[in-house]
Amino acid sequence: MYMEMKIKPIDLPGVDTQRPLIITGPCSAESEEQVMQTARSIADKGIKIFRAGIWKPRTKPGGFEGVGEIGLQWLKRVKKETGMYTATEVATRDHVFEALKAGIDVLWIGARTTVNPFAVQEIADALKGVDIPVLIKNPVNPDLELWIGAIQRIYGAGICRIGVVHRGFSSYDKKIYRNLPLWHIPIELRRRMPELPIICDPSHIGGKRELIAPLSQQAMDLSFDGLIIESHCNPDAAWSDKEQQITPDVLDYVLNLLVIREEIQTTENLSELRRQIDQVDEQLLELLAKRMRISREIGVYKKEHNMPVLQSPRYSEILEKRSSMGEAMDLNTDFTREILKKIHEESVRQQMIIMGDEE
Ligand code: PEP
Ligand code: MN
Repeated sequence: MYMEMKIKPIDLPGVDTQRPLIITGPCSAESEEQVMQTARSIADKGIKIFRAGIWKPRTKPGGFEGVGEIGLQWLKRVKKETGMYTATEVATRDHVFEALKAGIDVLWIGARTTVNPFAVQEIADALKGVDIPVLIKNPVNPDLELWIGAIQRIYGAGICRIGVVHRGFSSYDKKIYRNLPLWHIPIELRRRMPELPIICDPSHIGGKRELIAPLSQQAMDLSFDGLIIESHCNPDAAWSDKEQQITPDVLDYVLNLLVIREEIQTTENLSELRRQIDQVDEQLLELLAKRMRISREIGVYKKEHNMPVLQSPRYSEILEKRSSMGEAMDLNTDFTREILKKIHEESVRQQMIIMGDEE
């Protein structure tokens, strides 16, 4: 069902409408001291929206699952003493009621919630008749329709101030990122819903402190509207996501280094083309890593079935078929063959290791 949406800007009085909109604060509220100390340093930098997770969805039970309701009182204090707006994650009807009761200003729906239409609908129903900005994080899996479905459910409840948060997508393959950026997905969302603000979450995409600055810059270069970045007064001691949190001072440094380019980018623009090349190279490497993983799985199968690593007919077939495929794509045949040979060589080497290792 197509739904015409009239999304309104997030628009919080006193918050600069120039991009980037900045939301920052710890992954989780841990104690009143940690929340207040972090919040004061953040407010000192002139930042207006403070985030903290009160209820934390965890992959496995037994970890720190958030301080719960008590933390809302700390956020109230942040608001009162620093004047910042507060934001937190909601995943159930009760979370919504509690957060609204505590005067939280911005709600967000986490990636593990966006995947579940029942949960999103429950939140939407709890929000009927309320006017509050809601940010919807992308689902953990790269499914744009599911993301749009969540936006439609929240909009259907009468919420017009909606933004989305791009926090990357889970993947089984080893990679430099905690969550693959797959930039083409938010870019397609921008094309489909141009008025929808897109906020990048470099902390959860990168999963590492040192990736926050380059990812933030990439997001700005892709015309994203804002950034949500995890910052903590003592990141090394954080109870969740400590690898990806930075101090408010480092955050300030990162934000000051950002270059905000407002000119319209065209394909003639060399730096834009270079950025595209960087992204394609990254995708190539991710694909190669995936191919090697599959290759290793084949290696295990061959070992279990007493098959030799080298299956010559299969190799010749790959070379022949792929070279003509490449030719059809205007790729030089020698070039394609060279690359395929190198890839095959490395696959064989990895399968040999599997044969040897398990002996
Ligand atoms: C978070 O923002 O702390 C969080 C849990 O993020 P995500 O839902 O993107 O994993
Ligand atoms: Mn986190």
